[in-house]
This record gives sequence, C-alpha cells and structure tokens, in this order.
Amino acid sequence: MSPNRAVLEDAIDRGEEEGGNVEFKERLTRDTHLQDGRRASLAAQLRHRVLSGDGQATYVLGVTDDGGIAGVSPETFSETMDVLSLLADEADVYIDDVQTWGVEDGIVGVAQLKEGSVFDGDDKHIVVGTAGHVDHGKSTLVGSLVTGQPDDGEGGTRSYLDVRPHEVERGLSADLSYGVYGFDDDGPIRMNDPTRKSDRAQVVEAADRLVSFVDTVGHEPWLRTTIRGLVGQKLDYGLLTVAADDGPTRTTREHLGVLLATELPTIVAITKTDLVDESRLAEVERSIERLLRDADRTPLLIRRHGIQAAINEIDSSVVPIVRTSAVTMDGIDTLDSLFRQLPKTTDETGEFRMYIDRTYSVTGVGAVASGTIKRGEVEAGDKLLVGPFSDGSFKEVEVRSIEMHYHRVDRAKAGRIVGIALKGIREEEIERGMVLLPRDADPQPVREFEADVMVLNHPTKIDSGYEPVVHLETISEASAIYPDDGHLLPGDTGTATLRFKFRPYVVEEGQRFVFREGQSKGVGTVTSLHSS
Ligand code: GDP
Ligand code: MG
Repeated sequence: MSPNRAVLEDAIDRGEEEGGNVEFKERLTRDTHLQDGRRASLAAQLRHRVLSGDGQATYVLGVTDDGGIAGVSPETFSETMDVLSLLADEADVYIDDVQTWGVEDGIVGVAQLKEGSVFDGDDKHIVVGTAGHVDHGKSTLVGSLVTGQPDDGEGGTRSYLDVRPHEVERGLSADLSYGVYGFDDDGPIRMNDPTRKSDRAQVVEAADRLVSFVDTVGHEPWLRTTIRGLVGQKLDYGLLTVAADDGPTRTTREHLGVLLATELPTIVAITKTDLVDESRLAEVERSIERLLRDADRTPLLIRRHGIQAAINEIDSSVVPIVRTSAVTMDGIDTLDSLFRQLPKTTDETGEFRMYIDRTYSVTGVGAVASGTIKRGEVEAGDKLLVGPFSDGSFKEVEVRSIEMHYHRVDRAKAGRIVGIALKGIREEEIERGMVLLPRDADPQPVREFEADVMVLNHPTKIDSGYEPVVHLETISEASAIYPDDGHLLPGDTGTATLRFKFRPYVVEEGQRFVFREGQSKGVGTVTSLHSS
C-alpha cells in the first residue's frame, strides 16, 4: 500500500480532460472490456492517452468517471490490472508502475503507462553471480560497471549497492539483482544512481542486452547466500574477484570450488591492480593460474589471448582472467566487451519449472511467489501446480499476473527473475523450496536420492547418518547422508544416499547441491531418485 496519497490526489486533480493523458476507470473486467469491439476501442483510447502525454499516461483505477473515489475489491482490482495489461499489449504501451491505496470500500490505484514494450530479449539478459573474498572488490567492481564511475578506493562506488532495491521495494517486484546495466548499438547504458528505480527501469527499457549481477556471497555465513545465488537462481556466469594486493585466499579457493563444481562458466577478475606493481601482478596471475590448473581448469589470460578468445573459449573448463581496477577503470572496457557478447548459457526449453525463492503478499493481488524460472515459459492465466506440501501433495493454482524488473508482463521465460501472483492459494501456505509446474506435470517428489559427492572441508570424517543442511535450488533442508563406503574423508569424492529429514521435495537427476554444517562443506550431484 502506498502511504503517500499525493500521487493519487494529483492524478485526480489533473482530471480526465479531452486530449489529456489521465483516464479514470472504475473497473475493467474480462467479460465486458475484452469483447472484440470494446477491446479495440479501449486499446485505441489507451494509445491515444499515452501519445497525448508525450509517451506517458496515468490511469486511475477504482474511481468513478468524475473522479469520485469508489474503491473496488482486491479481486476486481487484480482483474482490472490484468485487463489493463492486455489492453496495453495491444496498444503497444506498457505498465511501468502501479501504486495502490486502501479506501473504505476497497482499493484505488494509479497505473503509469508508457509507450513501447518492456524489455523482452530472448537470450538478451544474462545473469552474473559475483563471488570472492570479502573486501576483494566485488561490490566496487559491479558499481563501476553499472555506473561507469571510478571508485575512490574507500568504498565510494560500493555504497550505492549496499542498499538493495529489493529489500526496500517490497511490492510485486522480485528483482534479486543488486546491479544491472545494459548495451545498445552505441555501447554500454549505465545508471546514474543504481538505487533509483527509475534509473534501473530506464536501462531495462533502453537496452538490447541486459546484464544483472547477483551477489552470491555478500556476507557470513557465506554459504547460504552463495547457494541462493548459485543454485537458487539461474546464473549464466560467475565473476570471481581476487584482490591484487592480497592475492588468492582460502575463501577464494572455496568460492572457486563452488563455482566450478556447479559448472558455471567463470571469469576471474584481479581487482585493485592500481595498488601493486607489475611484478606483484604477474605473481598473483601465476597463483590464480595454479589454482585453476589444480582444479583441472585451463586459465586464459585475456591480456595475452584477447577478448575474442575468451568469448569463444569460456566454458566450464576454460576460465578467462582479467586485470581490473575500479580506481583507474583499467579493465572495465574489457569486461564491458565480454558482457556485451557472451552468450546466454541457460537452457530455456522444456516444461515450465520454477523453484520458489521468496513469497509475499500484495494488497489487491494476493500471494506472490518469486524466483528464477528454471525452464520453459509461463503466461498470465496459466494453470499450475504448487508444492509439494509436507505430505507430498500439490495444489492447483492459476497465474494471476507476472512481474519482471518492475514491469508487469504477460509471459516470461527461463532465466528470468519474476514474481508470480497466484490465485487459489494463501501466501502462508507457500514455502521456499516448493516448485511451480504445469498442471498436467505429474511431479513425483522424493525423500531420498543418490548422489556423487565431494567433501570440500570437514574437520574429521563424515560417517553414515551425518546430518548437514542440503541446499538444492532454493531448498534448504536438514538431510541425513549415508556414504556408500560407510564414510567420506575431507577431499574425498564418492557416492552416497541422502535423505531429507522432514519432507519430500521435487528433485531431478543432474541437479547440483551443496551441503553444509558448521565448518563442513561439500558439493554433490543428484544421480538417481528413490521413489517414495
Ligand atoms: P567486497 O567485499 O568484495 O564487495 O569489496 P568492496 O567492493 O566492498 O571493496 C572493499 C574495499 O576495497 C573498498 O574500500 C573499496 O573502495 C576498495 N576497492 C575496491 N576496488 C578497488 C580498486 O580497484 N582499487 C583500490 N585501490 N581499491 C579498491
Ligand atoms: Mg560487497
């Protein structure tokens, strides 16, 4: 609910004049307003309003023709928004922003509409997960990329990013990224102020290619966020920072281990090159190359082999290394070239599937589940299943609306971070780790599965029945591990059976996961499922 009514009052004051760009609508319903003739004339009216307003119009909803505050029920408001978004589609405009207010008899809202269409590139949006030792310049590097501004070496750039938009903006938006920038034919499109929603929206609109950064570590306990970033979301690339003064640390090695274990194509950025001389820089490069070779990967120094070689060869075995400084802006253009050209790596085909990462409830809209679409496509109006519940059952729901990057959209594809408003369920019923699937999917949730596992770090040996927390997609659940050989030692790889302690989940072969308890960390791949 928007606390500030000035927006509403201003729109009502400006009124609905002939040739103006404000329109009052009490409600829009599918049955009445989407009929052929009606639909076309409403779309024409909408387009006319937007053009009258130099590409922008305001629709005040839940008010009478003369601007009297009527208020409509949450269901009616939601349907009104659905209809408006369909009309918008037809009129070649889009809904940029919606604010709602509670009144005595329900809800009134103000929708801002703009000319054009929302950013909807197929493989045009890549998601990059950042990792690296704390203070090795992750936030600063991302800050310099998305703003084009140098850092003062004292955290100036980073401060933008410390307030995350999604923590401030609760609404329908489910943008988990902390930095975004884009490219068009002329080059990079950056933000002046990443915390301003309008700046972000502008980049999203203008870009032919969009690059979002997701923090995979951020703070302690690092693993939880790492997992969220690495397996809870569909990342295309990893970006690991190593400060030139410190060089690789134990954390660097661990983060690299996790990035590589999930087969995420990764770029290593040596940061803070301004703080050291050439011989130190070469030494750090060599130690990173060694680290990669020890992990059976091939390092590729961009300064030696060029950007094109890096683009052609980057994959889960070839890891490009680039020198950067957020102070001198050295290497920023190299990263720009990479991010402009690197292909999207996620698989967009297959049956729709989304692991739920967060849930919230929005007035007038109801339960919203957010996460990254893992596969396939989802459309407003789709009938889905949500679950499993603790007894392994699923519930039928319908997609009321979809929001992506602050825009309402009619459909969204794999790789997109979205908020999906669901009809037929209350927010309290939905839990993180559940999935959304097509209604005819016939999912078989499991309590037990077999896996190949690797122990990254454990104080002693892992015995049968040891109970770490397994992080798989957005699932975080205590699970018992039963190594096939009876136990696993630090550094060991082997096979094991894992059993979720409390409830079943949807798991599939080939999925990667991380397990952790205290100091112990390991990674694994699901190899087969036990039917339950
Ligand atoms: P993070 O913890 O990995 O996100 O690291 P930050 O981005 O917060 O950076 C830690 C500190 O290093 C901040 O004080 C930055 O100003 C500084 N820093 C980051 N990048 C550079 C750089 O390229 N050169 C110099 N001299 N300092 C940097
Ligand atoms: Mg940081």
